Amino acid sequence: MTDRYAVIGNPVAHSKSPLIHAEFARQTGEDIAYSAILAPLDAFRATVETFRDAGGRGLNVTLPFKHEAWNLVDHHDDFAFNATAVNTIKFDGALGIGFNTDGIGLLRDIRDNLQRPVKGAKVLLMGAGGATYGVMEPLLREQPERLVVANRTLDKAARLTGHFQRFQSTTVRSLSASPYDALGNACFDIVINATSAGLTGAMPPLPEGVFARGALAYEMVYGRRTPFMDFARDCGARVADGLGMLVEQAAESFFIWRGVRPQTATVIAMLRKA
Ligand code: NAP
Repeated sequence: MTDRYAVIGNPVAHSKSPLIHAEFARQTGEDIAYSAILAPLDAFRATVETFRDAGGRGLNVTLPFKHEAWNLVDHHDDFAFNATAVNTIKFDGALGIGFNTDGIGLLRDIRDNLQRPVKGAKVLLMGAGGATYGVMEPLLREQPERLVVANRTLDKAARLTGHFQRFQSTTVRSLSASPYDALGNACFDIVINATSAGLTGAMPPLPEGVFARGALAYEMVYGRRTPFMDFARDCGARVADGLGMLVEQAAESFFIWRGVRPQTATVIAMLRKA
C-alpha cells in the first residue's frame, strides 16, 4: 500500500518538497505519496492529528510551525531537542518522533557538495531565528575555529549562543554573539545568511572586509538573487544559495522515513533547470 507523507506549513503552496520527494520516490522505487497541507495558524495540532489518524506516516514541518511541532511530538532526536525546533515527524502508530534535518542539510551542502570544510574555519552566521537554531549544533559539532552569530536584535543572538554554550568546550574555540556594527575588521572563511532579509530585497548591514580571501558566502534563501549574494560576489566571495540545503535536508527526512538514501545531485540539478 502507498505510504502517505506531506509537508505542512502556512503558507505552503510555494513548497518544492512534493516535487523533491516525488523524485526521490521515483529514483529509489519507494511506494510513497507526498502532498502539501495548509494548516490554519490556530489549528496545527488538529491538522497533524487528522493526517496521522488517516494513516499518514510522516510530515515535514515548515514555517511557522517548527517550534509548535517540537512541543507536539512525543520524542525528539538530539538535534531537534537542542534546536527546540522540529522539521521532520515520523509516526510510529500514535507516537510522533521529531527530528531536525536542517543542520545536516546545510552541512552536507557546504562540506560535501561545495567542498568547503567547516572544521577549523572562521564562520559568521547571520540571523537568530528558527533556521539558525536548527543549524547551530551540527555546525558546532563540525568544529569550526570560531563561530560568531550576528543579528539585528542582539538579545536574540545572545540568547541563542547562550543556549548552545554547553557545546563550546568540545567543539569550537570561540562562540559569540555580535551586532553587525561590532564586526569591525574581523573576516570569515564562511559567511552564512540565515536571515529572511533576502525575501524582502534587504540585506544585513555587513562590513565590506567581512570575507576572507576565497570565502564562501552561503545564502539560505533559494530561487532568487538576493542583495547579500550580489554584495558577496562584488567582494570576491564564492556564492551559493540554499537550494542544495533544501534538497539535502529533504534527503535526510526521506532516509529517516524509508531507510533509503536518495541521490541528491540530480535533484538539485533538476530544480536549477526548472
Ligand atoms: P525567522 O525565524 O523568521 O528569523 C528571521 C531572522 O532574519 C531573524 O534573525 C531576523 O532578525 C532576521 N532578519 C529579517 N529581516 C532582516 C533584515 N532586513 N536585516 C537583518 N536581519 C533580518 O526565519 P527562519 O525560520 O530563521 O528562516 C530564515 C531564512 O532561512 C528564511 O528566508 C527561510 O526561507 C530560510 N531557510 C532556508 C532553508 C533551506 O532549506 N534552504 C531552511 C530553513 C530556512 P531579528 O531577530 O532582528 O528580527
